[in-house]
Amino acid sequence: AKKQGRNNYQMYDVLLDRKAFERLQIENELRKALERNEFALHYQPIVNLCKNEIKGAEALIRWQNERVGHVSPDQFIPIAEETGLIIPIGEWVLKTSLLQLKDWHSNGMDGLTISVNLSIRQFYQPDLIPMIKETIELAGVEPRFLTIEITESMTMDVEKASVILHELKELGVNISIDDFGTGYSSLSYLKRFPIDHLKIDRCFVKDIADNKSDENIATTIILMAHNLGLSVIAEGVETEDQLGVLKQHRCNEAQGYHFSKPVPGEEFPGIKVPS
Ligand code: C2E
Ligand code: CA
Ligand code: CA
Ligand code: CA
Repeated sequence: AKKQGRNNYQMYDVLLDRKAFERLQIENELRKALERNEFALHYQPIVNLCKNEIKGAEALIRWQNERVGHVSPDQFIPIAEETGLIIPIGEWVLKTSLLQLKDWHSNGMDGLTISVNLSIRQFYQPDLIPMIKETIELAGVEPRFLTIEITESMTMDVEKASVILHELKELGVNISIDDFGTGYSSLSYLKRFPIDHLKIDRCFVKDIADNKSDENIATTIILMAHNLGLSVIAEGVETEDQLGVLKQHRCNEAQGYHFSKPVPGEEFPGIKVPS
């Protein structure tokens, strides 16, 4: 039994080492990913539920690397944040998605908006606001067509975030709180930040059609947001039933596999909203 225990212990060590190695390998490959042109953006439609039409797109990063294969953003974005690589990656995402938007605007989809995820780590980039302003000008789109999505974070300096978000508003950009309800002290942000939209996290949408208390949570978020003059976007809508409940409670917009998965830019104009 003693021997067995020792073996288990060694196995645990090996597993730990492998994890650390994988992490290091991802970090090394991530450092070279931009210059090797390994990133791509996919776009998921955001549907206006009153008009039943696509109102915008959320840009979501994809990474394909020869050595580590396909790594999901949930895995590599935290590493990019820790290493500071999120700064150049974030600039690339903004520039690429705004140029894509310009292209759509020039090809008959003129009212379309683009939503871009911004990491809180980017708030500590000294030239964030001028960078965003210049990128908007370079792409030649109006700032009102850009929405910045931020996720609540425990590590956020609320004072600093508030200053930056007000500067963003002054540029004419819209602000969304992402994953609403999953984070920390969300309600106080509603008071302090100049927000336009709330995105209800997928975990509240999942059982909305089967579970009364989940429906109540979603309804309450929608009512509260509307009372504050904010519009509401439901994330992760996968079924007709979920959509029905959301429409019944006057949710403004929705996103999810029911409408479309995120797709490459050239496929986006071909997406049809199910009626
Ligand atoms: P998020 O911003 O909350 O994005 C929504 C995620 O849900 C996306 O995962 C999307 O593909 C997925 N999704 C959309 N509809 C459905 C659905 O109906 N069902 C299910 N099960 N999933 C759905 P993805 O693309 O893997 O991105 C994961 C997270 O990585 C994002 O969560 C965001 O926090 C982060 N991320 C992605 N792109 C960027 C980026 O360019 N910059 C930054 N800072 N973060 C990014
Ligand atoms: Ca998002
Ligand atoms: Ca989200
Ligand atoms: Ca998320």
